[in-house]
Amino acid sequence: MKTLFFLRLCLVLAVTLFICGSWGFLVHKTCTQLAVYELPADMQPFFYKHLQYLTDSAIRPDLRRSRDTTEATKHFIDIEKYNTDAAAIPDTWADAVAKYQKDTLLKYGYVPYYVIMMKDRLVNAMKSDNEDSIMFYAIDMAHYIEDANVPLHTTMNYDGQLTGQRGIHALWESVTPEIEITGYNLYNSHTATYLTNPQQAIWKAVRKANGLLPAVFATEKEVSKHFPDTVKYKVVLKYGKTFKYYTDTFAAVYGNALKPTINGQLINSANLVADFWYTSWVDAGKPNLTRLLHSRFSRENARDLEKQVNSFKNNTLIKDSLLNATKGNFRE
Ligand SMILES: [Zn+2]
Repeated sequence: MKTLFFLRLCLVLAVTLFICGSWGFLVHKTCTQLAVYELPADMQPFFYKHLQYLTDSAIRPDLRRSRDTTEATKHFIDIEKYNTDAAAIPDTWADAVAKYQKDTLLKYGYVPYYVIMMKDRLVNAMKSDNEDSIMFYAIDMAHYIEDANVPLHTTMNYDGQLTGQRGIHALWESVTPEIEITGYNLYNSHTATYLTNPQQAIWKAVRKANGLLPAVFATEKEVSKHFPDTVKYKVVLKYGKTFKYYTDTFAAVYGNALKPTINGQLINSANLVADFWYTSWVDAGKPNLTRLLHSRFSRENARDLEKQVNSFKNNTLIKDSLLNATKGNFRE
């Protein structure tokens, strides 16, 4: 009986993730790992010691969606429901509640505001020297920041369902990066930077992602002109249901036409995660994180970290088998 219940639960989880995912598992894990390499020396050992846990848990907020009905709207914001101009939407939660009412925000998405709520919790966890809480909020906040950088998380036409482009969500954030990632540049010279106005910073990312939407949709239309439906789509039977997917052939041409948008947003996500982790640490009074570790940061750890940072700088993390997300079969 228990086994049957577990199997049913797995099925519900799998279908939920499949239908309403966010940056695919691959990109969430990658962004979170890259952010660790951008941290200052005082923070890096703590995050490095938890690297496997960080990447394993990077999709945890998505898994929560199947059992918590309040979870989904923390991952996106339907900009058009608030204003046709993203710039006119207030940066702060208080101003947004005053303008739109809390119920409306909880219904149509509030990812940028939720990132700030997570940041406040991370600051408190850091102030209270609680290793487990620090990791919990650091991971969750990273996930929501990464989602805020996905163009299709900023629109009510989130899966192209209003423009005859259903499936574009997974095409953009999962299928295309899965095909392209070995050719991506995963290094950029950004180092974690203090955010004097975190609300403004996360909104800047949301507005940038939202501004990419016309190209996300138009490129799909343009590429489609050269593809008959039989080559453009494949029908997949999954979890007892049929889904229409864009083919890898289409995704490869689509990604090439969009270049370097997805790679760029992946990097922007990683950079902003590093900035938010760093800002939280500074706001918490720069606690000694290394002292909190249950297991010591050894010389061997220091050597391994240095090796990874070098691979990061040379953009050889995948080639050197050091990117956790691409170890094993990473196609969803
Ligand atoms: Zn998500």
